[in-house]
Amino acid sequence: MKVLKFGGTSVGSPENMRAVMKLIANGERKIVVLSAMSGTTNALVEINSYLRKKNKDTARIFIGRLEGNYKEVVNELFASDENKQKGLRIIQESFDTIKSFISGKFSLVAENTILAQGELISTQLFTLLMQENGLNAKLLPALEFMRIDEDKTADSGYIKKNIFPVFENVGDADYLITQGYICRNDKGAIDNLQRGGSDYTATLIGAAIDAEEVQIWTDIDGFHNNDPRYVENTIKIDRLSFNEAAELAYFGAKILHPQTILPARVQNIPVRLKNTLNPTDSGTLITSKSTGTGIKAVAAKDGITAVKVRSGRMLMAYGFLKSVFSVFEKYKTPIDMISTSEVAVSLTIDNTEKLNKIKDNLDKFGTVEVDYDMSIVCMVGDIIGEERGFASKVFDALDGIPIRMISYGGSRHNISVLVPSSLKKRTLQALSEGLLETE
Ligand code: ADP
Ligand code: ASP
Ligand code: MG
Repeated sequence: MKVLKFGGTSVGSPENMRAVMKLIANGERKIVVLSAMSGTTNALVEINSYLRKKNKDTARIFIGRLEGNYKEVVNELFASDENKQKGLRIIQESFDTIKSFISGKFSLVAENTILAQGELISTQLFTLLMQENGLNAKLLPALEFMRIDEDKTADSGYIKKNIFPVFENVGDADYLITQGYICRNDKGAIDNLQRGGSDYTATLIGAAIDAEEVQIWTDIDGFHNNDPRYVENTIKIDRLSFNEAAELAYFGAKILHPQTILPARVQNIPVRLKNTLNPTDSGTLITSKSTGTGIKAVAAKDGITAVKVRSGRMLMAYGFLKSVFSVFEKYKTPIDMISTSEVAVSLTIDNTEKLNKIKDNLDKFGTVEVDYDMSIVCMVGDIIGEERGFASKVFDALDGIPIRMISYGGSRHNISVLVPSSLKKRTLQALSEGLLETE
């Protein structure tokens, strides 16, 4: 069985939902993962921010506006009055839930419950649309099997164990429609897989059922060799290996949630990226196979903080790095890049929640400097296999850009540089001009 995921734009209007319905209705049994309609999660994030600030009147206005939009969607989506009424009941239930938090106590659970409504609405409306059109579609409630543990990591054992009973409940339906992004946490409360998490839902389900293929349908023809939001004339890549795609996703290629590839790689399940607006295009195929040499693509991850610890004691002191890393381990803060010299170590993090505590602990080892607003620009491909003179090509392309850190050789797939975020766009453009194929 295949798992097909459709993103926010793909289900962003009644017209697009109908196009998705036609695209998937070929009689083959499949699981369909849907995001919220585009703009919804952003709107819910905004509503949460007003509720958190106790700005109830503004929250009420935004909730009312979003509800009004959904009433129009329902009216346009369904043909029969009966289904229009059913559609209105679906949205009313969600908006009643959201409104209950205006006067009630606002907590993290409230926030996550509100964020979940986008996917809960889109999947229910879409299932009803399919049923109205005579298709055998049923809802597969993600909250009954998707789960993260106390470290916010997907609990693949739990998912695998719990998805099958949910399958049995839907009987012989051809189209099993489920919510991307949402899950429960270790306490059983509603939570989510972080922004863009529907891609991750798709591969987690794919791995749990050992799917034949996972398809991520979006608004672009596949994985491009540079970020099309910042660089012109990027080109689509036909094939990527799991390792290459995982690095690019982790280092900021928005087309895939950072963790998407991991479950697929473990189970060796092909991932195909496809364009809902141009379904006949072959897209990008991601498998274990690696093709070609040299840099295939670049991506950038923002919101990076660089921490430098300078210590006279590092000189010949073999315990220094261990002591520094153990501070990050203690505060469960992952490190992305590292570079060392005889007297200092620089590293980067993207989660600054515990930075003050980390800094206090590191102060014991030497002088600590912190640089904010940095970006990691990551170049991915079969790099070590490349001919001599490769590093100089990279430096030539980046001529004139102040590089704060560089990481080369950690894996054969990745070279990363750290630059101030204000220079990210220029860096990406310079790499397209100097190193990548362009249109
Ligand atoms: P969806 O809502 O379908 O999940 P996203 O907006 O999350 O879609 O991801 C698709 C977008 O990712 C594209 O429209 C494009 O602007 C952006 N993007 C960033 N980097 C890349 C890349 N390397 N290749 C293709 N798209 C990219
Ligand atoms: N709706 C969620 C978001 O906008 C998840 C997703 O689209 O993948 O982040
Ligand atoms: Mg996305």
